Amino acid sequence: MKLYRRNFLKAGMAIAAGVAFKPFKSWSNINSLPSDAITKPIVISTWRFGINANADAWEILREKGRALDAVEKGVQRVEANPDERSVGYGGRPDRDGNVTLDACIMDEKANIGSVACLKHIKHPISVARAVMEKSPHVMLVGEGALQFALHHGFPKENLLTNTSEKEWREWLKSSDYQPVVNIENHDTIGMIALDIHGNLSGACTTSGMAYKMHGRVGDSPIIGAGLYVDNEVGAAVATGHGEEIIRVVGSHLVVEQMRHGKSPQAACESAVRLILEKFKLREKDYSTTQIGFIALNKSGEFGSYCLQKGFNFAVFDEKNGNRLLDAGFLVK
Ligand code: ASP
Repeated sequence: MKLYRRNFLKAGMAIAAGVAFKPFKSWSNINSLPSDAITKPIVISTWRFGINANADAWEILREKGRALDAVEKGVQRVEANPDERSVGYGGRPDRDGNVTLDACIMDEKANIGSVACLKHIKHPISVARAVMEKSPHVMLVGEGALQFALHHGFPKENLLTNTSEKEWREWLKSSDYQPVVNIENHDTIGMIALDIHGNLSGACTTSGMAYKMHGRVGDSPIIGAGLYVDNEVGAAVATGHGEEIIRVVGSHLVVEQMRHGKSPQAACESAVRLILEKFKLREKDYSTTQIGFIALNKSGEFGSYCLQKGFNFAVFDEKNGNRLLDAGFLVK
């Protein structure tokens, strides 16, 4: 305890004396790259709804805006769309009929904000940003997150659409809960962007798994699991079976692999491989589950990989425009 205190004091004195702390290890090539070798701005996001989200984010990026503003605006488009049944308004409810939302956001200075199990607010990503900018905390959940949102002027709304309610009532007849992730009952919009100033930010928002237990929180609002940004290195965001992504702290793992020299593609692949190993270690069936990562580094190189065939992601940059790409997959 004493030793800890002494070191702590020493560190404090060093800060006071203006001694610069060197980051542990950064992805240093970037500083020596000529600026025309860097693709920026660029935004990438998960699934086909990423195309529309990218288009909104691009409006900010092309005007030399901040990556943080771009990713917030981009994912808001999906949150507000009742036809997207796995994010925000219109998202499928938990088994008790509550639409509960998870979201987080991270900027280039390692500022973070997150909400989990938030009800009644259409834009959880903006509440996460408010937690980051207007509270002394980094994460608020449930009733406390709702109170905070209302206090900051977010309107209270009913997020359960007629379609979602009808489907849920149908589901209640069997109440057969299979936390199997397939294209129909999940999907998170995760977005990462590099702006013209060379700064990275990311956002991640979801209604999580359909008919989950009330109070279930997935990876999406967990900094390090659903999203991670290190402005020296790169950024990553995850989608798919949240419990499995949390188990390996997936997005942080991808960024750390990039820190140690891997390309975004290779980093995503190694994270998916580790998740598969954990399934095997626990002797669990992975044949019906999905995990996907997307990653972007400081030079605007991107990559993506998933467990099963079927994950796609959207990329927007000036040279090639906005396009949907299929991710490579591990289980053949
Ligand atoms: N990762 C989300 C969750 O587990 C769902 C998804 O992206 O498919 O809540």
